[in-house]
Amino acid sequence: MTTTHSGEHWLRPQLAAWRDRRAWVLEQQLRITKTAAPTGNEANRGALLQQLWQQGGQRVTRDVAGNVLTRITPASPAATAATRPPVVCLAHLDTVFNAAQPLVVRREGTRVYCPGIGDNGRGLAAMTVLARVLHQPEVRARLQRPVDLVLTVGEEGEGNLRGATQWFDDAAARGMPPVAAVVIDGPGDSTIVHHAVGSHRCRITFTGVGGHSWAQSTTPNPVHAAGACIAAIARLADASRPDGVIAATRMHGGEYLTGVPMHAWIDVDLRARDSEYVRSMRHDLERLVQHAAQDESARDPTHALHAHITTLGDRPAGMIDHQHPLVLAAASATRAVGRTPQSASASTDANVPLARGIPAIAIGAGGSGGAAHTADEWFDDADSEIGLDRVIRLVVTLGTATHLFR
Ligand SMILES: [Zn+2]
Repeated sequence: MTTTHSGEHWLRPQLAAWRDRRAWVLEQQLRITKTAAPTGNEANRGALLQQLWQQGGQRVTRDVAGNVLTRITPASPAATAATRPPVVCLAHLDTVFNAAQPLVVRREGTRVYCPGIGDNGRGLAAMTVLARVLHQPEVRARLQRPVDLVLTVGEEGEGNLRGATQWFDDAAARGMPPVAAVVIDGPGDSTIVHHAVGSHRCRITFTGVGGHSWAQSTTPNPVHAAGACIAAIARLADASRPDGVIAATRMHGGEYLTGVPMHAWIDVDLRARDSEYVRSMRHDLERLVQHAAQDESARDPTHALHAHITTLGDRPAGMIDHQHPLVLAAASATRAVGRTPQSASASTDANVPLARGIPAIAIGAGGSGGAAHTADEWFDDADSEIGLDRVIRLVVTLGTATHLFR
């Protein structure tokens, strides 16, 4: 990769200006975080981000999925720059919290507590900064390709990466997939996720005829089958390789205290570093579900249980090597801000491009944090400008490189 080095003097005033505006960035992060955005209901937060981008001078659009989009077009003399495939940055709008979750901010020094403050309040705040930096004439004049900024819906849980999938589908349909994707997710200034963990979520349902718990005591019992199935899942979890995880995460069953139940269900979450292993765990799961149903049905085969598995979500796995030029560019931006790059694997919007062979990474947007996906989530703003600096350097490098990955 031939790059204009992001550490070059022309970018320094921009970086310095944003280091000085740390308080403004945190203020936007709090506004964003306090605007609820449960998966499937991201419109209010999307509107806030749209407004923040428009205030920075950007033209903003939405796609059919509800993703909020803006494109920074090159203003460089090279006429071909605007027609090259873009670099895309994505950050997810949604949170795992439902609409009833109170979004109350509590501050202790540089630490801020609020559900969603890091994941992905921080990433979204960084996207407002990125739009403003890239919009500057001195940056646009150097861009060698468009930079698309995409705020995605449906990243968490049952959203199943819906927004990112829509965007990459549309880009493929236009015949213009991006050369690289950078996902901005949560806090952090050192980690580079270049390995997308694959996952599969499904619901196992056992159905029977039910009956009176004394008079029809031999009737096969869906709750018993579900219990046996959970015990078998727990044994499978123990036997899984360290890079594969299987867990029963939710369950429900039965209708009456004194009746043989008619229904029981279990939700299962499978994760692994390679899609092959996810599929093999799913096959194991099918086998033990049939087993549990047959064992319980043996009590009265004329009223055999019916077992059924419904897929709730499927996230493809994928990766690029730690020597890939995109990972090296991120590592160099990390070192440029005085941090040590660290490889990691996770499940993010980057799963979508990686599974399609498009180079992609996920990085944090500065600061530190913890207890993500819980009501106690916190973010620490100390040194948060370092990670933001890294994001800006990397994206500017990718946008202004004359030759990217070829
Ligand atoms: Zn996230």
